[in-house]
Amino acid sequence: MIPGQFTYHRPSSLAEAVALLASHGDEARPLAGGHSLIPMMKLRMAAPEHLVDLAGIADLKGICEDGGTIVIGATTTQHEVIASALLASKLPILRETALLIADPQIRYVGTIGGNVANGDPGNDMPALMQCLDASYVLVGPSGERHVAAREFYEAAYFTALSPDEIVAAIRIPVPATGHGYAYEKLKRKVGDYATAAAAVMLTRSGHQITSCSIGLTNVADTPLFAEEAGRILTGSSMEADVVTRAVAAAEAITNPASDGRGPAEYRTRMAGVMLRRALARAYDRAAA
Ligand code: FAD
Repeated sequence: MIPGQFTYHRPSSLAEAVALLASHGDEARPLAGGHSLIPMMKLRMAAPEHLVDLAGIADLKGICEDGGTIVIGATTTQHEVIASALLASKLPILRETALLIADPQIRYVGTIGGNVANGDPGNDMPALMQCLDASYVLVGPSGERHVAAREFYEAAYFTALSPDEIVAAIRIPVPATGHGYAYEKLKRKVGDYATAAAAVMLTRSGHQITSCSIGLTNVADTPLFAEEAGRILTGSSMEADVVTRAVAAAEAITNPASDGRGPAEYRTRMAGVMLRRALARAYDRAAA
């Protein structure tokens, strides 16, 4: 299949890109790596008349630390996330997650901004961003605003982003030194979207968990922040009955579709299994 006709724009500044989006309204879409948008256009599930390519905007690229915050430019590719020495030392869960996305060819081109802006519940980064309490820097005609990842997703492909806004960057609080982390993803084959996946970040003092944050991928219309499950685990020493209660609390907020990845009940149960595995690995990795 080939996409419908469109006009291609390649602005060199964020202001120019925002002005293009504002002038074309609903008929325009930002283009990043194109690995979600172009397939949708080929399937005629999206038919924008104007594509505003973000690739020529230098300000949207790069990874840096700003005080206690990691800032990742929206057009930073998944490959650049994987290769970043800063992220490997401060936020290794990003690398672990990015390595489970698609395949190397897609990761060389697909961007972190496109992954979080897309609104596809199958994307892996949104639940991780909720787990990390990240916020998105949105730039539009009336300036800049910050929206928490935990507030951003409204339904499948519906987010807090207006048609004339661009995700310029992602801001992530630097986690505590010695934190434990894990992203566990069940997929049918290499390169597939998750049947279910779980992100865990935690800290320990001795055997006791002092903080615990959990995100779930592809088991509802939106990514899920499993707040109650994290609360149950905080203060525990990972006793079996506490883990079972936390997993049940996480499973209770899922609402997956029955599809080619399995019936809803199976996918809910797999979210629980992924969470158990992620918790065990994160706990072992955390400095006591
Ligand atoms: P695009 O495709 O260019 O854009 C996606 C959407 O976001 C569009 O609506 C676009 O207008 C909007 N957009 C993009 N950037 C911005 C921005 N900065 N501001 C505002 N709006 C923006 N993803 C996973 O997470 N896990 C997987 O396992 C996975 N497997 C895949 C397997 C295959 C075979 C393919 C083709 C893709 C897969 N993907 C997977 C998706 C891939 O990671 C995409 O690259 C990603 O979801 C979108 O990023 P992109 O840069 O390609 O964005």
